[in-house]
Amino acid sequence: MLNIPKDIMKPARYSGIEPNRIMKDPTGQTIRFALCYPDIYEVGMSYYGYFLLYGLTNTLPDVWCERCFAPWHDMDSHLQRNGIPLMTLESRTPLHAMDLVGFSLSYELNVTNILNMLSLARIPLRSEDRESGPIILGGGPSMLNATPFEKFFDLIVVGEAESKLIEILSLYRTLRGAHRIDIIRELARLDGVYSPLFRKGKVRRQVIEDLDGVYHPATPPIPVVGSIHNRFNVEISRGCGNGCRFCLAGYGYRPYRERSLERIRDIIDRGMEGTGYEEISLLSLSSGDHSALFDVISYIKGKYSGVSVALPSLKIGTIREDEIGVIGDIARTGFTFALESASTGMRCRINKNIDLDVLLGQLPLLKKYGWRKLKLYLMIGFPWEKEEDISVIREILLPFEKEHIDINLAVSPFIPKPHTPFQWLPMESEDTLNEKILMIKKTLKGRRVKVRYRDAKTSMIEAIVSRGDERLAPMFEFLLEKDCKLEAWRESFRPELYTEWFEKEGIAMGEYLAEKSIKKALPWDFIDTGVDKSFLVSELDRAEKGEQTRDCYSGCAICGMKCKTPLQSRGAAIAIQSSAAESKPEPFPSEPQAQQTSSAPGVKYTFRYGKFGDARYIGHLDTMNILLRALRSLGITIKTHGKYHPMPKISLSDALPIGIESNCELLEIETTVGILIHEETVRDINRILPRGIKVFEFIKGSLQNMVKDYSYLLVSDRTVENEMWKLRYNNKKYLYVWKGKGIKELWSKGEFERIIKTEDRRIHGRRTDN
Ligand code: SF4
Repeated sequence: MLNIPKDIMKPARYSGIEPNRIMKDPTGQTIRFALCYPDIYEVGMSYYGYFLLYGLTNTLPDVWCERCFAPWHDMDSHLQRNGIPLMTLESRTPLHAMDLVGFSLSYELNVTNILNMLSLARIPLRSEDRESGPIILGGGPSMLNATPFEKFFDLIVVGEAESKLIEILSLYRTLRGAHRIDIIRELARLDGVYSPLFRKGKVRRQVIEDLDGVYHPATPPIPVVGSIHNRFNVEISRGCGNGCRFCLAGYGYRPYRERSLERIRDIIDRGMEGTGYEEISLLSLSSGDHSALFDVISYIKGKYSGVSVALPSLKIGTIREDEIGVIGDIARTGFTFALESASTGMRCRINKNIDLDVLLGQLPLLKKYGWRKLKLYLMIGFPWEKEEDISVIREILLPFEKEHIDINLAVSPFIPKPHTPFQWLPMESEDTLNEKILMIKKTLKGRRVKVRYRDAKTSMIEAIVSRGDERLAPMFEFLLEKDCKLEAWRESFRPELYTEWFEKEGIAMGEYLAEKSIKKALPWDFIDTGVDKSFLVSELDRAEKGEQTRDCYSGCAICGMKCKTPLQSRGAAIAIQSSAAESKPEPFPSEPQAQQTSSAPGVKYTFRYGKFGDARYIGHLDTMNILLRALRSLGITIKTHGKYHPMPKISLSDALPIGIESNCELLEIETTVGILIHEETVRDINRILPRGIKVFEFIKGSLQNMVKDYSYLLVSDRTVENEMWKLRYNNKKYLYVWKGKGIKELWSKGEFERIIKTEDRRIHGRRTDN
């Protein structure tokens, strides 16, 4: 059993007991691969790409891929203080004892976490200094310019890593036993892979052609601590054909590719059975573009009652009016639209081809279906921006106000990212960005708008790292020396250290933010994304002139990707349909439908369950979610209450403090009539629950009928002097009974190694279920 210090926050992050985690036999020829996410558990456990690689590599019988996340500050200090190396979650193997260690980097400010994780794992930071130990791989969206931090990796995979990782592992299998440097040299010969030790010419970004033909995770490990996005992710498409000129994802994931409706349905079915999640996220850079989006949503609505859908970002004009009722009915997190600029002229320059009037025309309908809140994304700091481009924000929000729709406005500074047509443009100064943010706040004061903005300083540092070159490598080592980590968390971000380093080295920070010459080579030019540089130049030229370029769905703009077939999207189809005079939309659904909220009484069942061992670190709400998901994955539908934001109809016994075990916890659920829970349910649910959570029995009826008197059994290896009743002494352990309050404090004092909540009748009868 794990013994995590009692002052560590959210200890379940480090327990590694998630349902669906993959355990294998580490002996023999098994290749040990640690897949690291350079941020904390809650962030990494939300990231689709991470589970894609975790599940995929584990399909190889002789490869065991295990997880590792950055520890929070308290655990970090504990590891350092006690000389404990950073370990994997599954087998608790130190990273330095693995064959390969991979980092997936999706955010530039997480580079410091990579260095900190290497340091905690006692692995030399620079590739050139490693003589033994695991091979360190890097991949992920931020690797399209890894120049500033490439020295910390032995190998870097550029682009979509699915096929490449399998190739790397297969080749590694044949090279095993050779000298480390020879293995790196051989692996670096693979297309799309390079080593900073053996730089080659151009490195081609890897692109998967057929999404239907590749692996998609259907049973990812389910977090035991509430993660940032607690839902089942289905990647419905990859890439984007809209051609927004500022967007790295739009250029870095070209071309647009869809998963078929048939394949999506299959993933949803397997995912719902394997996870029991209450929400499905349809992942895409622009989910409204998927040609079968409405069919996917209708499928979920028809088959998975009570399950909601999240659409990360919608392009204005991609949802038909007749679909709003159906989509709005199960998309409970609301609609998010990326407007990017309030000014029509600026939207032309950045190639954001949307018609705002379409959204404004849909407002009454959105309101009718219960959507009183919308989220809009805006960017500021484009080089051509004038005061009127900012002041027009107020004007475009007036119709929302008229319809009593609240707006959450997210404002971010524009960062000229590598590999986009805007890569040569300068970044707006910090002072001007702050002035513009202030202006927006003033303009919108007292309106029905909540403004959230991305801090200008953070954006400047992000820009420096993403546009950086190899001179920045020592900066990351300096930041590590200063104990700089977890910078994506506002309270841990220390921009003054970056300034200090630049001043110390005599390098002007502004150099990385200034305009770049089209004639000069850029640090990331050796990465071939597939898009021709001449296309990027011509797109920049069109932006200067305020000219738009058609999207990939309306016709190929010949960017260099050489797509074989014309791309289709529903966005284009809807635009064509709207402009055709004879087209008639389907009739609206008569009324918004709330899910599973019928007033018909359901059937109540109460489960008695226990929490033991490492599961004692899982919090009360997280335990409840784990149980509810396990029930859902068995096909047991729980009734909900609330019309637009339904909540499951459940009752629970009092919250059990973290660290305390129990064999008498109660969960009451109300199922729909017709759903029967039978004896096998106990066996089936225990099969899928994480180790340490166990259902003992259930009764048909309310929790009230099962509440019994309980006490706490306290286990210590020494005698404890107080009024507690000593029950027995065996196996060199003293067993006490406590019936008072203050059990949390008793646990925090640290006198007892285990505290177990138990029904009185079991104590007196000397019976325990554990
Ligand atoms: S080749 Fe044409 S269709 Fe393909 S991504 Fe480029 S512009 Fe779009």
